[in-house]
Amino acid sequence: MSNVFKIAILPGDGIGPEIMNQAIKVLNKVKYYLNINIITNEYLVGGSAIDTYGEALPKKTLLGCEESNAILFGSVGGPKWDYLPLNKRPEKNSLLKLRKHFNLFINLRPAYIYKNLYMLSPLKKNILDKGFNILCIRELTGGIYFGNPNGRKGTGINEYAFDTEIYYRFEIERIAHMAFNFALQRNKTICSIDKANVLNTSIMWREILKNLSHKYSQVKLNFMYIDNAVMQLMKNPSQFDVILSTNLFGDIISDQCAMITGSIGNLPSASLNNKFFGLYEPAGGSAPDIAGKNIANPIAQILSLSMLIEYSLKNKNISKKIENAIEQVLNLGYRTKDLFTNQSNEIIVTTEDMGTLITEYIT
Ligand code: NAD
Repeated sequence: MSNVFKIAILPGDGIGPEIMNQAIKVLNKVKYYLNINIITNEYLVGGSAIDTYGEALPKKTLLGCEESNAILFGSVGGPKWDYLPLNKRPEKNSLLKLRKHFNLFINLRPAYIYKNLYMLSPLKKNILDKGFNILCIRELTGGIYFGNPNGRKGTGINEYAFDTEIYYRFEIERIAHMAFNFALQRNKTICSIDKANVLNTSIMWREILKNLSHKYSQVKLNFMYIDNAVMQLMKNPSQFDVILSTNLFGDIISDQCAMITGSIGNLPSASLNNKFFGLYEPAGGSAPDIAGKNIANPIAQILSLSMLIEYSLKNKNISKKIENAIEQVLNLGYRTKDLFTNQSNEIIVTTEDMGTLITEYIT
């Protein structure tokens, strides 16, 4: 790795710029520990880019991302741009284009429960007492969302609609290798989610994973049907370590993983290609209902930065420092409004204060 690492900062719309400012505070603190020259450049994206340049992903922004080693993304969209036709809307025209342009085929979403935030989860205490720490891995650029042919044909009662689920061997192999490697750095267990009792793609998905598992003998590989997996996740999430799935099933299971943690504002994500170039962003959207009020939770954005440091900068030590600081601040009772559960030790803080507190607790 060269001694310069460039990060393209794309704050976007709504709460994006507010929570991004907090991640930048954290970056400014940790960059001195990183042993590499970090250069950041900020670019417009989404609705704010439409307002200035007439397009959600202007050439300048795309070029800036191409010249960078990683992208830290806020969130895009909002009612101001809802009048636009779907093919001109901020999300489709910036985020999805970036994923495609950089071939970001693997999406990672960690989901864990903070001990002091049990009250936010819809799960019962006896289930939460066992804890959980899941890495949900979703294939992001293939499968039924992109398969051809798709469309609608016919008329009257014979009108029909169709979609195609296609997975190529190379698509399954490349995500499987990455998933095995992630599992090796964790508790060495993968649960692959499919519907191999019905779907050909799932049968091939299973076959390829089983064959590759011989190369990763330290990793325990098991399989679960999607219908059982959603039940098991409610009943006993502690049984999961790495969950691996196709685009469609991953869409479902990753949102369920988010739900059981109880707080969208705490959830980061990473979308990577095979060179570990990544786009890192909060799992939530631009939250227009709370934008500009200094009440949004910046933790997901800060954890997205932490994932960038772990996966693109390969510095687990510093990302751990950030995670520990967040845990400490939460243990002390500091909460943005979305995390407040009316417990006696809780203190409501603003977006800015939460960012400052986390920065201060990084040691
Ligand atoms: P949303 O995630 O923006 O908001 C859902 C709810 O969660 C809201 O009540 C919001 O206040 C809350 N929330 C989200 N993030 C929060 C945070 N950090 N702190 C505190 N509360 C938070 O989803 P939505 O309302 O369906 O979408 C709003 C806009 O965001 C839409 O224009 C949508 O297209 C866009 N969107 C963008 C992305 C993205 O950029 N990746 C993802 C999803 C939605």
